[in-house]
Amino acid sequence: MSPKEAPIPTRKRIALVAHDKKKQDLLDWARFNKGMLAKHDLIATGTTGSLIQKDLGLPVRKLLSGPLGGDQQIGARIADGTIDFLIFFWDPLQPLSHDTDIKALLRIAVVWNIPVACNRASADFIISSPLMSEEYHRRKPDYGAYTNRPLDVT
Ligand code: PGA
Repeated sequence: MSPKEAPIPTRKRIALVAHDKKKQDLLDWARFNKGMLAKHDLIATGTTGSLIQKDLGLPVRKLLSGPLGGDQQIGARIADGTIDFLIFFWDPLQPLSHDTDIKALLRIAVVWNIPVACNRASADFIISSPLMSEEYHRRKPDYGAYTNRPLDVT
């Protein structure tokens, strides 16, 4: 696999998702980092997005609620290259109806090598990185060998 580059622009497209028992954590983090978040474009699953928009007064592009397809919508945008990083505070103590979607979202973020923070400490490190205010040359994996794989069909 030979990596190609895909820039993460200075103004980043940040996806925000928090499970119900993690929404307070995300809200606290977002309040603390409001100044930085205001410089970027925010997109979120439905309930998380409404909460952040109402509390912080920042514009948030709201998708469907996570269990209704919102996680998959975010995953599709990651695959399309229109989301630059993911803040995903998932709940490690509760099985959820959409566990398969959660796993799929985490997986696709790794497939496309985008930064992901799943807890407050990771989100703090990402948001305070000097890379937040500059363009970053993300290595985009080249899956050509996979898409061109020989198939045993007649
Ligand atoms: P919500 O979805 O923001 O609509 O609550 C989050 C999730 O459960 O994935």
